[in-house]
Amino acid sequence: MKIGVVGAGMVGSSAAYALALLGIGQDIVLIDANPDLARAQAEDIEHATPFASSVDVRHGGYADLADAAVVIIAAGVSQKPGETRLALLERNADVFRAVISEIMAVAPGAILLVASNPVDLMTYVAQRISGLPPGRVIGSGTILDTARFRSLLGRYLDITPQSVHAYVVGEHGDSEVAVWSSATAGSVPVADFAAQLGKPLSAEMRVEMALAVRDAAYTIIAGKGATYYGIGGGLARIVRAILDDERAVLSVSIVAEEIAGEKDIALSLPRIVGGAGVLADLMPPLNADEAAGLAKSAEVIACYARDLSV
Ligand code: ADP
Repeated sequence: MKIGVVGAGMVGSSAAYALALLGIGQDIVLIDANPDLARAQAEDIEHATPFASSVDVRHGGYADLADAAVVIIAAGVSQKPGETRLALLERNADVFRAVISEIMAVAPGAILLVASNPVDLMTYVAQRISGLPPGRVIGSGTILDTARFRSLLGRYLDITPQSVHAYVVGEHGDSEVAVWSSATAGSVPVADFAAQLGKPLSAEMRVEMALAVRDAAYTIIAGKGATYYGIGGGLARIVRAILDDERAVLSVSIVAEEIAGEKDIALSLPRIVGGAGVLADLMPPLNADEAAGLAKSAEVIACYARDLSV
């Protein structure tokens, strides 16, 4: 199956590289406003495929996206000095208007997978511009935050993260909420699991872990200027769930009718992802603090969305 990647910068190319190495899809097409960059990234990634998979990686124009099953949108512009967050958002909404009308003209059946930040608002923008059903416009949301949360818990409990079931919900950003109250390890609540191992999860430890999850991007940016490999892997995970009709439960962002009292907002919840996109939303049981945190997160996103001209 064909996968398009629009925006062949660090995030788009990392996603394409992850797809190629994991052998997800048969045909990966990279497009960028800078065609030389798209060509160079496609060639570089293609050169890795003899060591990994038989996926075809190439650069192209929008016509090459015909019949794509999924199109990852990682295009965007960066913040100018002194530019407000809203002004940046409006410029990125302009980029999305241009890009999405081109994609829809050639691949109206594609599922859009949004990676550009701020990802929840850009998912909202993409859904509004495309007019597609909300379940077919998916933002990477907190997929990476959830993976980090599970990894940190797994490391602390000394078990594989695959045996930890825990989610980060809400905005992919400062207001995100790590859901401790319904987190389990091997079907045992994590607090009980930790106590049974003789290393209880103290309140301080929980705060420390949630902050490490929330601020991981800042730490990475301080060291190397940007984050891209982690999200590239997360995007590939979502594409595989779609192409294989896995019905996997992943924390991703889509526009929902109402969450925590806010209407028509995109934020992350655990959701069932399969061939038709998001098939259902799940609301994990939340304690009072977590519910208040999710309401705050929804309010932060709704506040920006209201001011956007889409
Ligand atoms: P990130 O780290 O988020 O990937 P980059 O700046 O590396 O950020 O990549 C963003 C990419 O989006 C750039 O390569 C840029 O050329 C591309 N881009 C910006 N506007 C458009 C557009 N209208 N159409 C296609 N690509 C675009």
